[in-house]
Amino acid sequence: MPPDVDYLLVGGGLQNGLIALALLNRNPDVRILLVEKESRLAGDHTWSFHQTDVPSAARPWFDPLISARWDKVVVRFPHHFRTYSSGYASILSSSFDEVVSKTIDRSSQSQLKRSCEVKEVFPHGVRLASGETISASLVVDSRGPIAQHRGTGYQKFIGWDVELAEGLLPTSPTIMDATVAQRDGYRFLYILPFTRTRGLIEDTVFSDSPHLSRTDMRQSIMNVLHDHGYQVRRLLREESGVLPMPWVLPRSKDPVYQPGLLRGGYCGGWFHPATGYSLPIACRLAQAIADAHDREPIDQVMARLMKEHASQSRFARLLNRLLFSGFAPEERYHVFERFYRMPLDLIERFYRLELTKGDQQSLVCGRPPRGFSFRTFLRNHFVRNILPSSPKPASFLPSQDSA
Ligand SMILES: Cc1cc2nc3c(=O)[nH]c(=O)nc-3n(C[C@H](O)[C@H](O)[C@H](O)COP(=O)(O)OP(=O)(O)OC[C@H]3O[C@@H](n4cnc5c(N)ncnc54)[C@H](O)[C@@H]3O)c2cc1C
Repeated sequence: MPPDVDYLLVGGGLQNGLIALALLNRNPDVRILLVEKESRLAGDHTWSFHQTDVPSAARPWFDPLISARWDKVVVRFPHHFRTYSSGYASILSSSFDEVVSKTIDRSSQSQLKRSCEVKEVFPHGVRLASGETISASLVVDSRGPIAQHRGTGYQKFIGWDVELAEGLLPTSPTIMDATVAQRDGYRFLYILPFTRTRGLIEDTVFSDSPHLSRTDMRQSIMNVLHDHGYQVRRLLREESGVLPMPWVLPRSKDPVYQPGLLRGGYCGGWFHPATGYSLPIACRLAQAIADAHDREPIDQVMARLMKEHASQSRFARLLNRLLFSGFAPEERYHVFERFYRMPLDLIERFYRLELTKGDQQSLVCGRPPRGFSFRTFLRNHFVRNILPSSPKPASFLPSQDSA
């Protein structure tokens, strides 16, 4: 019997939304079923990225998602300031929901089911909470983050989307302002001006602990507002996250790909270990699946992509190991101060996880950044990875102060 649909996409987050857009752009008659357990798609996120993160073939279906764009970004460190000309852009999850659902609605063969939970996923099919089973040529399981129990640092952040009554935001995003006090790890502010009077102001830490100290981080945001003379008219929303920065590959009994079932997005490990971000990789995976449709056997495409991703991720995990084991928390900013002195094309390749061998050498060879201690590295490496009784964080899912 032919399957009910061609692609059954489990989880209506970033990864599967992008796959749906890419496939429908390739072939409007493709039969997709996208199933999301919540009433809206993609939660409450702002995804930001360098424009070079998006492959040019993906532009026609990807660009309608963009909510704001800029042509320069700023980084600020105690001894280094740089404005670099690289296109930067953001997607708000509200516009993501709108574009993805409208695109699916317009197609005659595809469907979106909201508020519908998938209970079980298996090759070529799923079972819904209602008990109904649905078959598909390919199931893409992208149900979001999974717990990582060992061998990881964390990028944790709280951001306020604010409307100002007084003061003007800068015209370009500040993607790292590390001139703030270095507590709990590498700490920086992130300022994303949607307009001169509305923007996202975020406090971020690359920390050893997944504990999200809301009180402390909100205080940091209030300090920035105060220091810049900004008066807030309205707090439109708060977003927060704790993303893994692993130096060890998470153990999983499930393969990333087997015929009829692909684990996509975060739960398949399709993210950048050294930034915690997934948009560039999610975009590549979406474009590759769409390119393969009706053309190349998906097995070959997945084998190629997984090999490339594994090799790039291995190097990014090495960078995490050096950062989290080789530097005291308050010294980690030296690594980024050095990184942002590098050529722009290397920085862009780093963000999209497409480093060349030469880039990799430039990043780890030569004199190490200030603050690196081989003794600290060996001690941390031993305590975290070799001692059997070493304390392990429970999960990368956040433990938090009260909301
Ligand atoms: C606040 C925040 C900001 C971020 N900002 C960036 C950024 O700027 N750039 C970047 O590249 N990355 C960013 N990330 C990291 C990463 O890109 C996101 O986490 C991204 O959303 C991961 O995509 P995903 O599709 O794997 O998972 P998600 O987007 O989390 O989607 C998973 C979806 O599956 C649904 N689901 C789960 N279980 C079921 C079930 N049983 N049945 C049906 N549906 C189910 C969930 O409700 C959810 O909608 C951010 C993360 C957070 C938390």
